[in-house]
Amino acid sequence: MTPELEQPLDRLNRNDRPPTEADLRALLEVQGDDLRELYARADEVRRRAVGDEVHLRGIIEFSNYCHRRCDYCGIRAGSPGVKRYRMAPDEIVAQAVQARDWGFGTVVLQSGEDPWFTTDRVCDLLEKIKAEAGLAVTLSIGERPADDYSRFRAAGCDRYLLRFETSDRELFAKIHPDDDYDGRLACLDQIRAAGIQVGSGFMIGLPFSGLDVLARDLLFATQLDLDMIGCGPFIAHPDTPLGGHPAWADREIYFKAIALLRLMNPLSHIPATTAFDALCPNGRDLVLTRGGNVFMPNITPVAYRALYQLYPNKPCVDEDGGACARCIVRRLERLKRPPARGRGDSVKRGKGNG
Ligand code: SAH
Repeated sequence: MTPELEQPLDRLNRNDRPPTEADLRALLEVQGDDLRELYARADEVRRRAVGDEVHLRGIIEFSNYCHRRCDYCGIRAGSPGVKRYRMAPDEIVAQAVQARDWGFGTVVLQSGEDPWFTTDRVCDLLEKIKAEAGLAVTLSIGERPADDYSRFRAAGCDRYLLRFETSDRELFAKIHPDDDYDGRLACLDQIRAAGIQVGSGFMIGLPFSGLDVLARDLLFATQLDLDMIGCGPFIAHPDTPLGGHPAWADREIYFKAIALLRLMNPLSHIPATTAFDALCPNGRDLVLTRGGNVFMPNITPVAYRALYQLYPNKPCVDEDGGACARCIVRRLERLKRPPARGRGDSVKRGKGNG
């Protein structure tokens, strides 16, 4: 590593001298041998801290109804041409049972912010999945009233995924016409207080952002002390207000962000998020070799997949869950990484407790 980069690298995981925005800016610009070394170090820290096993979380996208109008999202309220669907609770439970039979330890339930799924209905769903499939359950259903999270926890919710999307207050306001930055962060506190493992993160390369925002996002995600950090590239959806904004030309930036997250957060779970495959065909595999240790195969029934298009070029829209489960096994074999068995709880705080 070039000598002047050694100090910023050293500070990445030191409490006495934490990294600065300038450190991260410098590390986001590394090239050539330095870049290869950055990736190798992230891979090594991942191996030592969380091991070679890759946790598999089957994701069921159970409703694309949404009452919000986030400027980047293909299923935002009022978006023309989106055919809406909502899986029946029994259909979701059946899919979770199927996930267990495919060997997954966790199921992730994701949707738009769909008011049909009241607190009672979500709790009922959680209880049924626990009773019939016995899996760890992650919810990713957006912002809920403060009291919901403890009720979800009591009904069996183990983890909750709610990205902060960007740490830049002004940018957050600009791209969320009906959402509030402080309200979003308050939800993360409430989720944690309810005893649920917390996942959050941000989109890399949002319009109107540059390396300065990315450096601050990396620091902010680290300050939140997350059990899981989920980040992926922003991919423009043509039918949204941000449709005209291309991805960053330098694709390495997206992967550098993951490597730096791993170096700063050795014990967090870091998924290879689906949007990386929309960026380049083997994007998710590359994330797993540059700090990632979680893979989230899509197990949404095939009839609904094409309708849950947060962004275009989403992979695997015409495959069923079984095909995705087999595909990930092959991908992991190529990477010489074993699939993890079991629930894959946070390694940060001990089993079953945040
Ligand atoms: N309604 C839930 C789930 C949202 S979808 C919630 O609000 O948490 C999950 C994530 O997809 C979002 O948090 C966002 O970061 C990401 N996403 C949405 N549109 C995207 C786009 N155009 N490109 C990349 N990621 C996108």
